[in-house]
Amino acid sequence: MLGPGEFRRVCRACGRAEELERERCSACGADLNAMAVPPDNGFVDENPALRHVDPNNRVELDRFNRRDEAELACGLLRFHRIPCELSSMVIPGLPADTILWVHAEDAELAWALLADMEREASGKDKDVS
Ligand SMILES: [Zn+2]
Repeated sequence: MLGPGEFRRVCRACGRAEELERERCSACGADLNAMAVPPDNGFVDENPALRHVDPNNRVELDRFNRRDEAELACGLLRFHRIPCELSSMVIPGLPADTILWVHAEDAELAWALLADMEREASGKDKDVS
């Protein structure tokens, strides 16, 4: 049996094991309490506050040429309580890019979360091949 001091929670964003009493990952700053909720237990994006990004205070975080990838990234950010919005930019003759917007003050954390997700995805690809 594990004593209370031996229990660790693992950061879902970067995989770092943290003390149970920690609220935020010391490596990537992700909210460890938010991660206690299983991701397949429904997305937390019913919260309307997570669906709206102030157009006057937003930055373009990333662009995706596939809408499903954009929605996956957006779902991840909302899971971490970071509001985000998607918009499509259609340029005649080019594939439509989906732009992922976040508030300027969330950009750094959001970018780190996406970078972690991409690292994880590319790691999985390597395992498979
Ligand atoms: Zn972390």
